[in-house]
Amino acid sequence: MPRNPYRAAKLLAVSLVSATLSLNFAAEPDLILHNGKIATVDPQFSIHEAIAIGESRVLQVGKNDSILNLRGPKTEVINLRGKLVLPGLIDSHSHPADAAMTEFDHPIPEMENIADVLKYIRARAKVVPAGDWVTVRQVFITRLEEQRYPTRAELDKAAPNHPVLFATGPDASLNSLALKESGIDRDFKVTDGGSGFAEKDPQTGEPTGILRNATRYVKVKSASSNPTTDDRLKRLTALFADYNAVGLTAVCDRAASADEIALYKKLREFGPLPVRVHLSRHIETIGDLEKIQSQIRAVAQDPLFTIKDDTLRLIGIKTFLDGGMLTGSAYMREPWGVSKIYAITDPAYRGVLFIPHERLVPLVRTAVENNLQFTAHSVGDGAVHALLDAYEEVNKSTPIRETRPSISHSNFMSREAVEQAARLGVAMDIQPAWLYHDAHTLQAQFGYDRMRYFQPLRSIFETGGTVGGGSDHMQKIGSLRSINLYNPFVGMATAVTRTSPKLKSPLHPEEALTREQMIRFYTINNARILRRDADIGSLEPGKLADLIVLDTDLLTCRDTQIASTKVLRTYLGGKLIHKR
Ligand SMILES: [Zn+2]
Repeated sequence: MPRNPYRAAKLLAVSLVSATLSLNFAAEPDLILHNGKIATVDPQFSIHEAIAIGESRVLQVGKNDSILNLRGPKTEVINLRGKLVLPGLIDSHSHPADAAMTEFDHPIPEMENIADVLKYIRARAKVVPAGDWVTVRQVFITRLEEQRYPTRAELDKAAPNHPVLFATGPDASLNSLALKESGIDRDFKVTDGGSGFAEKDPQTGEPTGILRNATRYVKVKSASSNPTTDDRLKRLTALFADYNAVGLTAVCDRAASADEIALYKKLREFGPLPVRVHLSRHIETIGDLEKIQSQIRAVAQDPLFTIKDDTLRLIGIKTFLDGGMLTGSAYMREPWGVSKIYAITDPAYRGVLFIPHERLVPLVRTAVENNLQFTAHSVGDGAVHALLDAYEEVNKSTPIRETRPSISHSNFMSREAVEQAARLGVAMDIQPAWLYHDAHTLQAQFGYDRMRYFQPLRSIFETGGTVGGGSDHMQKIGSLRSINLYNPFVGMATAVTRTSPKLKSPLHPEEALTREQMIRFYTINNARILRRDADIGSLEPGKLADLIVLDTDLLTCRDTQIASTKVLRTYLGGKLIHKR
């Protein structure tokens, strides 16, 4: 009980008028923010003037007077002067530990065309000893002016004495020396039980240098210097500070390896993580099925899963079901079509499905039986349907809903897929950055009509499904220069306008989100996907006080102002962790 009986009486009075909004009227708030516009993102999307925070949680929201009445001698009081407050933003698909290290060895310039790529390779060939590997990763052909891979001949010319790997996702373009060192010739076949192949010249039968889901066969050796754990921790800390600066208070590492998980744990030894990190443990799916299933069971025994820590938590597993739409291997229901952009010569080619149904079902079942969230990278509509079919089958005997089964990326859907996902309780993590960066090339490849259910955000909302926004941040620090850009306000603007600087007109604007949906997309919906909606994602009494103060009113500003929104303050568990 509070020591001051007068204050206790005031608190009681307040609690009577707003009993449903009050958590613990005995506590003196540590912090009050008032005279603002607090978008709570509760089920009614209610807006309040003020919020009281204590012991890292939301105590109460309400009118200025009633909240200011809670003030005690130690309460910090901040006048928001009308600014908008949102729950801390959540990115449901990121790779922070990996992305932070991209430029550890040397800065990597932005590459907008093939000439930029070749210039970078020539420059690397000057500093890397002859015979050592030169690599370019995740420079997507969909984002290059020419919209194609650099050819084997171009790579040979740029670095004749170095093996060169230009890799994106599971696919790649190699020069002659890289093919030779990797033993990839006209007789090359994938032999590990997985899928994948090397494109061959139809006339000569020689490899063109393009690999489809076969980059694992490239015998690349890194020529860059090896970072220490200390280096890794420093860069991860810098990245997390930048996440906070753009309003992110929680993320999901959507393919965490053992090493990466160890790094997050190490960082946690130095104090609470500034971003709540959720982990989808990456599981390899090639090889003995029993072995893979026992790896899945082991994840469920990990203390990071069984002990529900607030800042570092395993939520489930992640695997890969198909290739990529930026690289030409997403698994589609209809053929890709012969393509100059993606160097596709076979008119019947539909992309690459990595896991057949008879293996996928037991993997999903093992995850569900162990209360783990299952998610798989599934980009093409063929992969999305394949995963939904597996969920449907498992659900017949073991209810899946409570484990929050997911589909990662889920870029190409169909009306039936949207409805099936909603019915089964399957959520999607979708990255508007891909609409922003790549939709113009995808439209050139597939045509406007085949893009009807590309990132069908509005349909998912209206069908009662759950979809959350993310970045798939995989390289570099810096929210606008990163690959993929992780600035959530650009993501929001893209979800609302369905446009990008490279699109001539909006892509199926009927799938655009409203402002309210746009905010749910980066807050409560992601909290559901991260299995954290009891704790985060909205500003309701009892929840963790993760919140941001913005310079722009995202509910009323013009569409063109959304992307440039700045975060004035970021709070994690009621603690100020970023101030502009
Ligand atoms: Zn990813």
